[in-house]
Amino acid sequence: MSVEGGGESEAPQGDVHAQVLVLGSGPGGYTAAFRAADLGLDVVLVERYPSLGGVCLNVGCIPSKALLHVAKVIADAQATSEHGVSFAGPEIDLDALRAWKDSVVKRLTGGVSGLAKARRVQVLEGGGRFTGPHALAVGDKTVTFDHAVVAAGSRAIELPGIPHDDERVMDSTDALELADIPKRLLVVGGGIIGLELACVYDALGSEVTVVELADQLIPGCDPDLVKPLHQRIAGRYAAIHLETRVESVKADEKGLYVTFTGHVADATFERILVAVGREPNGGDMGLDAAGVNVDERGFVPVDERGRTNVEHIHAIGDVVGGPMLAHKATYEARITAEVIAGHDVIFDARGIPAVAYTDPEVAWVGLTELQARERDIAHEVASFPWQASGRALSMNAGEGLTKLLIEPQTRRLIGAGIVGANAGELIAETGLGLEMGADAQDLGLTIHAHPTLSETVAFAAEVAEGTITDLPPKRRSPRG
Ligand code: NAD
Repeated sequence: MSVEGGGESEAPQGDVHAQVLVLGSGPGGYTAAFRAADLGLDVVLVERYPSLGGVCLNVGCIPSKALLHVAKVIADAQATSEHGVSFAGPEIDLDALRAWKDSVVKRLTGGVSGLAKARRVQVLEGGGRFTGPHALAVGDKTVTFDHAVVAAGSRAIELPGIPHDDERVMDSTDALELADIPKRLLVVGGGIIGLELACVYDALGSEVTVVELADQLIPGCDPDLVKPLHQRIAGRYAAIHLETRVESVKADEKGLYVTFTGHVADATFERILVAVGREPNGGDMGLDAAGVNVDERGFVPVDERGRTNVEHIHAIGDVVGGPMLAHKATYEARITAEVIAGHDVIFDARGIPAVAYTDPEVAWVGLTELQARERDIAHEVASFPWQASGRALSMNAGEGLTKLLIEPQTRRLIGAGIVGANAGELIAETGLGLEMGADAQDLGLTIHAHPTLSETVAFAAEVAEGTITDLPPKRRSPRG
């Protein structure tokens, strides 16, 4: 295979030479490494931790979903008492729960190692540091490379004034360790991580308080999609404080004594989870020695082919900015590996789905209504309330909503949002519709099985088209 910059390398030879060096083995890194290997390139994958898979597999998406599954089972069992079937409260064996969650993680990380072996991708363990434009030091080894892909990810942001050294102050990684079930838990940050983990600890029995700086939970998401989630958790949690920040935390043996801004009363908690966002790891691996620009926040700017200012060094995933989501990283990874192999491809996705795996789930793709308004983009909104869905009512999920944003001229789908059970799965159909340029009629005339939650997408499209029969008719003018 002819590879630009590959084959005869001018780079100095070190202990190991790679046509493609990938730094970081999260979903972005391992996908780039495997795709490059499948395209015939020699690949070295460098990872600082013994287990492959990055934050997502080890201490993020996967373990949190295992725990959220358990949380949902507990919450559903509690809810059935309203329908005539009562179960005793859960007996929680924390060690067994942790072991099960860890076993899920281990299966997947082991699977990634197996996939690497099967492709002859050489994995080097150790923190990598660039020492030049074609060289990376890993422990006492030097890897020289023709192309590099930086997939070094991100880390949790720490807040000043909070004693992060105290083991009762947790980031998401600590919270997933499930050291205990605190009686009173404060979650600082009402974004996706904060709310997912709040959901887990609430189901396990903690009394949860959420404090959020913005005027709504999951800022940036449309308020009508957040409302059913807010209403549900407001009924379960001790408190949700919006437009509030933590002023100080004093730690002593009795607990963590917290003062807040505004009129929120001081309170003592056994544990605090800080989930106020993540910051990129761009400043941590000597990219300046390779001549790669890193901005003041630690992001590595790239073009639509994933190239940094140094053409043979690429970057993908959380470290390049945009939504910090595994599926965005894997998409970028494929593009980058193919660009390195000489393919003419660019990042041109029309939508990147976002999902909060809370109860209920919240998901959206493409334009949000907030963005359409802010950017003055012509749009129509068509919403279908799940109160009119037989499947939703029979699942005790009537609080849901499916909403489509339609471009008035072309009738094309430009965005979608769903709140309710399985929203994270249901959003996929609208993502495909968006990519394929579907219009409202396409969605409405696609026969969906009845009764399903997926029907709500077609019903929302019928709302857009004015053909909906599962809702009351629009009021007619006096002349009909
Ligand atoms: P986030 O940016 O989504 O949310 C952080 C929240 O903290 C925001 O609502 C912000 O307003 C609030 N905040 C900031 N400073 C605060 C302060 N001092 N006091 C109170 N609130 C404050 O960040 P996150 O939830 O930590 O997640 C990090 C990244 O990981 C995000 O990009 C997220 O999309 C991604 N992630 C995605 C998933 C998923 O797809 N299901 C799951 C976890 C994380």
